Amino acid sequence: MRIAAFLVFFAPFLSQSQVRQQPDAAKIKLELKKLNSLGAVLYLAAHPDDENTRAIAFLVNDQLMTTGYLSLTRGDGGQNLIGPEMRDLLGLIRTQELLSARRIDGGQQFFTRANDFGFSKSAKETFEIWNMQEVLSDVIRVIRQFQPDVILTRFPPDERAGHGQHTASALLAQEAFEKTNDPTVFPDQVKEYGVWQAKRLFTNIGRWWNQSITESTPGVVTMNVGTYNPLLGKSYSELAAESRTQHKSQGFGVPGRRGDAPDYFELAKGEGAEKNILDGVNTGWSRLSRGDKVRPFVERVIREFSEESPSASIPLLLQIRKEISQLEPGVWKTRKLIDVNQLIQNCLGLFAEVTADNFCASPGEQVTTGYEILNRSDTEVKLLGIRAPDLLFDTVIATSLKNNSPFVFKRRNLIKADKSYSGPYWLTEPHGSGLFTVSDRRLIGKPENDPAVVVNFTFEVAGEKLFISCPLIYKWTDPVRGELVRPFEVVPPVFLNLSDKVYLFPDSTAKEITVLVKSSSDKKLNGTIKLSIPHGWKSEPAFVPFELKKRGQEGTVTFTLFPGNEILTTSVKAIGELDGKQYDLALQLVDYSHIPIQTVLPKAEAKVLRLDLKKEGEWVGYIKGAGDEIPAGLKNMGYRVWELKDEEVTEENLKKLDAVVLGVRALNTNERIRYFMPDLLEYIKNGGTVITQYNNNSDLDIEADKIAPYPLSLSRDRVTEENCNVKILKPDHPALNYPNKIDVKDFDGWVQERGLYFPDKWDPHFEALLSCHDSGEPTREGSLLVANYGSGYYVYTGLSFFRQLPEGVPGAYRLFANLVSLGRNKKPESVNGKSKAK
Ligand SMILES: [Zn+2]
Repeated sequence: MRIAAFLVFFAPFLSQSQVRQQPDAAKIKLELKKLNSLGAVLYLAAHPDDENTRAIAFLVNDQLMTTGYLSLTRGDGGQNLIGPEMRDLLGLIRTQELLSARRIDGGQQFFTRANDFGFSKSAKETFEIWNMQEVLSDVIRVIRQFQPDVILTRFPPDERAGHGQHTASALLAQEAFEKTNDPTVFPDQVKEYGVWQAKRLFTNIGRWWNQSITESTPGVVTMNVGTYNPLLGKSYSELAAESRTQHKSQGFGVPGRRGDAPDYFELAKGEGAEKNILDGVNTGWSRLSRGDKVRPFVERVIREFSEESPSASIPLLLQIRKEISQLEPGVWKTRKLIDVNQLIQNCLGLFAEVTADNFCASPGEQVTTGYEILNRSDTEVKLLGIRAPDLLFDTVIATSLKNNSPFVFKRRNLIKADKSYSGPYWLTEPHGSGLFTVSDRRLIGKPENDPAVVVNFTFEVAGEKLFISCPLIYKWTDPVRGELVRPFEVVPPVFLNLSDKVYLFPDSTAKEITVLVKSSSDKKLNGTIKLSIPHGWKSEPAFVPFELKKRGQEGTVTFTLFPGNEILTTSVKAIGELDGKQYDLALQLVDYSHIPIQTVLPKAEAKVLRLDLKKEGEWVGYIKGAGDEIPAGLKNMGYRVWELKDEEVTEENLKKLDAVVLGVRALNTNERIRYFMPDLLEYIKNGGTVITQYNNNSDLDIEADKIAPYPLSLSRDRVTEENCNVKILKPDHPALNYPNKIDVKDFDGWVQERGLYFPDKWDPHFEALLSCHDSGEPTREGSLLVANYGSGYYVYTGLSFFRQLPEGVPGAYRLFANLVSLGRNKKPESVNGKSKAK
């Protein structure tokens, strides 16, 4: 029972997102050296990017330790510098960025179910939102499975850690360290994985919170993590830079460095150490009973390895495998069997790949699969059979694979009829703000789904059996980027995508709702679509029939939705019916070049808001920043949005606009902004309205004194409690009265935070309209600042409209409509004059 649990956990060769790369001889040499090392280190922190990539690269490739990074969260609550994805989808991107980083530095990746709900100022708040016991149980589960000798945390267990989730990560690590060995703690896990005691726990000191540490500080182990690895042709600092640069959604590109680099580890729990964090840990084969029988063979295979002829190592590797298979069951036996099988495959240069003719198919449907199997050595290799239960395929082959002579064939397979759909496992069930829902406990800790379809090969190598598993993949060739790969997915036969995420009903006027229907089936599909709507609302027609003739074909169906009178926030769902079965999933792709394409299957659902919303003006300009969904929010309100390209920000064009909104971080990400700003200020002077959303004060693309018509000083002030009281400071200000009367109720139901990077000083021309603050913090009045300039308005707001509008928060829409309408309120006659230009 226990072995099975370990096998599921440690099967890195089945990465969903990666085509196996044949390593070169130097890499194989390094892997052989790792075979001789039986030590494990677990690094633990809160987010993607918290981990010390250089320490991980060093531990894996210099100290040859099996090293994991347990990130409590997937980074869902951060800001996205490369696109509009937020929350769950951002967490998905960051999960994949971490996996890309680990492929470079050689570490393994784990997560808990904790959701990154956004910035938090205290561990106390963090634990209340997460449910501390649940996250602790996940940490303990991962430790009991991974069995690290040493645990490292990135943060101290106190406020020096900065972010409440950081502090919480260190507190959880320390508590887990004390409890993993207690069989009464989470006893269900013990049945499966046993108990475990790590030898010690260190805090890996960060220079940003401790400048005083040196080698001579008591209790500190210093290790030089900047050494050079000739087998990789890189220093660990260079390797770490490549790994860290994968965090592209956070803009963490870093340059490679060379030369010595001391890293400090301060003992927090367990036995002390002098020179090495693994002092006193037996990391050799002798840690296992009968392990000494394996060691001489491993030493010999390393010594005798020939770069020109890796397959000469096969007899010894088979011998090693035989010796390992006679050891007692346990985590190291499982790991080393996986490693040695991988080495046998690598030394043979044995290529085995299965591709599908499409990236997805539905349960019960046919898929054409292409097989390519190739032995690239003189060793005698036979393919005995292929088994793929998900493809209802099981065959005996018994063919000899001659050196460099591919064995290639195609066949039609059926996808098993009861196969479940793909889609990230932690996103398939609804979740709250603190924890993802994962009903299948065996999945907890895993970074991503196992591949949707796996094909198992049985070979005979020099008379011994070798099993290799391959994920089914889809490959295609892009004329510019070359051969590309994505995972094969199992999906419903039909996708239903609603045209918007949020629909606003400011009055009783009906609205059209369009559903895009797309087939992923080779069969002709005839069905109907209906909307599931709130009580008292009406959809016309009630059903719409659709017909799709082939895979990939799309069509649209349109409903007219008549709202009820009651003010409410609810949702509308699209439901398809086909052959007596109902389908209600949409298709969403996340496609960036640094990570594998991600297929998400969210519910075909959108928020609908019956609200009291008025607006003025018609055309709004939008200047893109780091990426947000403000344009969609404006269109929902009934505005027409002109997404201005750099060359379109001209005096002439601005005259046609009722207001201009700057995307989040536009002052950080748009290098041309310094050239637009004078035109924007001139536009305000002549009656226009400009709304600047939050920016980071540290890397502005414009001089800090030129971002507004009057001096304004940005800070890092933020208010993270999304429910905190908001006080209205200027109840008579037009921005709070026209066309919508704003009161404190409009701040109900906000998500994640009030806002971030508020200015902390401003010229008296600005009026601060609101005040709010987190518990125990001073009052912040910089969330919404408005200044008259000439005959127009300049608005600077760190309120997180970019989070609220896509989530359908009614008060945020009402307030944003007022900001955009500001210019139309003050001087109707001059605006009317301008509107002729439209
Ligand atoms: Zn962090």
